[in-house]
Amino acid sequence: MIDPFGRTVDYLRVSVTDRCDFRCAYCMSEDMSFLPKNEVLSLEEIDRLCGSFIELGVRKLRITGGEPLVRRNVMWLFQQLGRHLDSGTLDELTVTTNGSQLVRHAADLYACGVRRINVSLDTLNADKFLAITRWGKFDRVMAGIDAAREAGLAVKINAVALRDFNEDEFDQMLTWCGENDLDMTLIEAMPMGDIGQNRADQHLALSEVKKTLAEKWTLLPSDHATGGPATYVTIKETGRRLGFITPLSHNFCESCNRVRLTCTGTLFMCLGQDDAADLRTPLREHGDDETLKQAILEAISRKPKGHDFIIDRDVDSPAVARHMSVTGG
Ligand code: SAM
Ligand code: SF4
Repeated sequence: MIDPFGRTVDYLRVSVTDRCDFRCAYCMSEDMSFLPKNEVLSLEEIDRLCGSFIELGVRKLRITGGEPLVRRNVMWLFQQLGRHLDSGTLDELTVTTNGSQLVRHAADLYACGVRRINVSLDTLNADKFLAITRWGKFDRVMAGIDAAREAGLAVKINAVALRDFNEDEFDQMLTWCGENDLDMTLIEAMPMGDIGQNRADQHLALSEVKKTLAEKWTLLPSDHATGGPATYVTIKETGRRLGFITPLSHNFCESCNRVRLTCTGTLFMCLGQDDAADLRTPLREHGDDETLKQAILEAISRKPKGHDFIIDRDVDSPAVARHMSVTGG
């Protein structure tokens, strides 16, 4: 699949649920209303959709949410998708999770062919963890990370960088990552969805964070590239990688290789734009996959050049109305 700007689209991120067992302050408001179950695709429908994307050239799948591992029977979906790894039509199957269910699922994920996972963790302080996730259990997530490593999964920690919250913790987190064989990526908070507070208060530019880290650590340039929005350095002292995702201070759209599917079958061609394609109708109305594939190709032909996120102190509304948990991070 090639978009109008010549970019090959071979990476699909699939949000399998908008629900979550946490309420992270930058992601959700505390009283979220979720989709009625009948609007959400069944796991069989998600499997069929992914199959069509793979036939059209998708080589990498990331399962996300909401919290993907709280969806009932989600391991069935991983098993089905793992078959594409066995047949060689898919290069990678991976997941982004808050870690709360990893003790239960890590070994099964490995058995399905998953080899790398992202675990979101913004702090190593249990009290701050509770403050930012509102409902999260810190010890359970730490046990989940251990379980993942014991199962043989490579773990990357994703931390959203938040002013006056975790900016004084990155040194400690990098040391901990070094001791536990974990890579880490810092993410700038993106203005997605109403969270009941002004985002300008949270915003922390990673260009500043990088400068501060460089005073203590030796940050070696790294040519590691995932086709994603992160730029990487290698930390000489630990040998681990550190990524920076800077949607606001650096525009990463020119190399964008991905599209995002929500759990209702809506395809977003850009995380930062509202244009979307309904794939649920062709999926449900036609037993054959040809109509569905035509709808996918038509959507790819509308992939926009880029996003225009901006966090403006004077403008209170988010750049896009939907929450990150709808499209998946
Ligand atoms: N629940 C899973 C988790 O937390 O990893 C998967 C879904 S979550 C929406 C995916 C990623 O998006 C997480 O790393 C989270 O920190 C990040 N995220 C959520 N809201 C964000 C925002 N407004 N700006 C930047 N990152 C955000
Ligand atoms: Fe849930 Fe992930 Fe959003 Fe936190 S970031 S509320 S864990 S979906």
